This record gives sequence, C-alpha cells and structure tokens, in this order.
Amino acid sequence: MEQEYGLLDTDEVDTPGDEFEEIDYTDTEADRIARKRDREFSQFRKRIKDADQFKVEESVFDEATYAALYKLVQDGHIDAFGGPISTGKEANVYTALGEEREVAVKVYRINASDFREMGEYLQGDPRFEEIAGNKQAVVLAWVRKEFANLKRAKRAGIRVPDPIAVERNVLVMEYLGTEEGRAKRLAEVHIENPQTAYEVVREYMYRLYDAGIVHGDLSEYNIVVHDSQLYVIDVGQAVTVHHPNSEDFLERDCENVANFFSRQGVETDGEQLLAYIHEHADPTS
Ligand code: ATP
Ligand code: MN
Repeated sequence: MEQEYGLLDTDEVDTPGDEFEEIDYTDTEADRIARKRDREFSQFRKRIKDADQFKVEESVFDEATYAALYKLVQDGHIDAFGGPISTGKEANVYTALGEEREVAVKVYRINASDFREMGEYLQGDPRFEEIAGNKQAVVLAWVRKEFANLKRAKRAGIRVPDPIAVERNVLVMEYLGTEEGRAKRLAEVHIENPQTAYEVVREYMYRLYDAGIVHGDLSEYNIVVHDSQLYVIDVGQAVTVHHPNSEDFLERDCENVANFFSRQGVETDGEQLLAYIHEHADPTS
C-alpha cells in the first residue's frame, strides 16, 4: 500500500428526516415464488442445492431464500454463483457474476440471526418501530436498512460497496476485490501511511455523522482496501442520530478506530477523534 488515500466529492445530502422513508418489509416476490413453487424454480433450487459451493451451507438456506436468489437471477442481478467469501454469525457472503461485473451476495440466515442483538439497533430507529418482536420481519427490515444505509453513505461521500439489489434476506452489492480474492481488511494489510489512512477514516466518520448516521460497528475489520482506496463495509447496524444510543455507538466507533491507528503510530485517541467529529459535524442541519 504505497498510495495516498483520497476522498470522494460529496453529493447533496438529504436532511435527517429522510430516513423515516417507508421501507416495505412485508411479503416479497420471493415469498410468493416460494409458495408457488413453479417448475422452473424447482429446477433452480435443485441446481443451487447441488452446487458445490453451497454444499456446506445447504441446511441454512430455507425455501424462501432459494426463491430470493431465484428472483435475483430472474431480474438479471445474478448470472452465476461463485464461491463463499465469508461465513459470519448472521450472514454468509458469496461472490457471483452479475450483469456486467462480479458482485457480492450477502445472505442473512433468518434462523441463525441474533434477533435480540438486532433489536437493540432497530429499537429507537423510527423506521422500524412497528415490527420489533417479529423475528422474520426484523431480519428482512435489517437487510433493507443495510441497503438503504449503503445508499445514504454513498450519497454522503463515503466509499462503500455499490448497493445493487435487495430481495428478502439477500443483499447484492458491488464486489470489492480482485480475481485473487476479496479486498483485505485494514487489520490484514501493512499500512504504509497510517496518518493519511487515519485522516480518511476520520473524514468518513465525520461525513457519516454529518449526514445523520453512525456506523455502530466501525473498526479495522469493517474497513477494507480496494483499488488503493479505503471502503467502509457492513453498515446493517448503522443507526441514525435519532437513535437513543447513537452517541454511545459513535463513542465506541471512535475508540476502536483511534486505538487501531494509535497502534500504527498515529497520535490520537478515542476522545480526540470524538471531539473532532463533534466539532466539525452538524447532523441536525
Ligand atoms: P462479521 O460478523 O464478520 O462482521 P458480517 O456477517 O456482519 O460479518 P460483513 O462484515 O458485511 O458481514 O462481511 C463479512 C466479510 O465478507 C467482510 O469482512 C469482508 O471480508 C467480506 N465482504 C463483505 N462485503 C463484501 C464486498 N462487497 N466485497 C468483498 N468482500 C466483502
Ligand atoms: Mn463485518
């Protein structure tokens, strides 16, 4: 990593009220396909079930997840499935061939999801108040929230994977990486110029907060290096500044990020980073 990290130009950012936009988490096309079980879908499901890369995960894909993948293929977002990139606590990430480029497909496992942990982030987010308590609805809302958060972050000038499509518990986004493999996490690379990298992350945090959002799980594990630039990933848990715990989440993010960069020799700490963000950002304007 010999490069200087650069920033993106910002677009006009929406006012914080816009996150109250309606998000439809009710019956999806995938649920309808799963119920209908037409012949083509049965063949698709059999093909996916038999595919080597899904063998280990077979048990985790329920009927409606196959239907969601099927719908994404039908809609042209996915042409062919690749291998797994990551098997997380709540979601698996796969590569796939998209319409014109490689994509990353994040599949949330409704049954494996830690429902209570998700609830903590969703409570207090006005977008999701009415569904708290229904596990499937919470997970589906979560995926849509991740999609919406990717869009918002992108509009605010933060490098994130391009959001492409969302269907039920499946999110399709730009793949970060090369043919050799996924983009490396900040924790996995040697950082040549930690000061510049720190300043870019600080600017990202400031821009997010200024746009009314707090990441909530920011650390060297959710920042990756792609195309010589820093990208923020995993924004599903990001909350708006209206969330009652958003300041705690911001404080924790600052702590994680500052501790990491201070180990890289940058002179900073969590308090200093937090003060910088508060001083520069105005999330209510
Ligand atoms: P964890 O619980 O490990 O934080 P998660 O289930 O919340 O994971 P992510 O952090 O979004 O999911 O993704 C898991 C890993 O998959 C990431 O650390 C990253 O290496 C890889 N990944 C996620 N999104 C992409 C992408 N768009 N392109 C390439 N790799 C990705
Ligand atoms: Mn992650």
